[in-house]
Amino acid sequence: MNARVVVAGALCERGRLLAARRSAPPEFAGRWELPGGKVEPGESPEGALVRELREELGVVAEPVERIPGEWPLGPGCVLQVWTARLISGQPRPLEDHDELRWLAVGELDAVDWLPQDRPAVREVVRRLPWD
Ligand code: C5P
Repeated sequence: MNARVVVAGALCERGRLLAARRSAPPEFAGRWELPGGKVEPGESPEGALVRELREELGVVAEPVERIPGEWPLGPGCVLQVWTARLISGQPRPLEDHDELRWLAVGELDAVDWLPQDRPAVREVVRRLPWD
């Protein structure tokens, strides 16, 4: 059986990466992640990412490039990450999150990332232009 895919977006603007603090479920609340969510049946990963970023942040964004690799999220689930570009809107924490922060590269360790997002963020850092 194929693993269920969760997609997340690395939105980078002016040398800062967008991090989102989860408000639910209780076991994840207060920890930080790259915004995203589950790919639904019949959806492409890129389509799911566009939908999740619209639902969670109220923005229109487009996937740019898949970050190589995937990270286990518990039984039968993997996390895949895309860099993404904001097309319109200002991100707001509409769903699942209660705070957003744009983090400079030197601030990325300042938030308590979900464990599976840490290796993904490290890969993102290696690949984004930070200046
Ligand atoms: O947002 P949604 O509930 O659809 O996310 C599905 C699962 O993937 C959740 O367990 C969530 O914590 C996890 N996830 C994650 N890292 C992300 C995005 C989602 O661990 N960047």
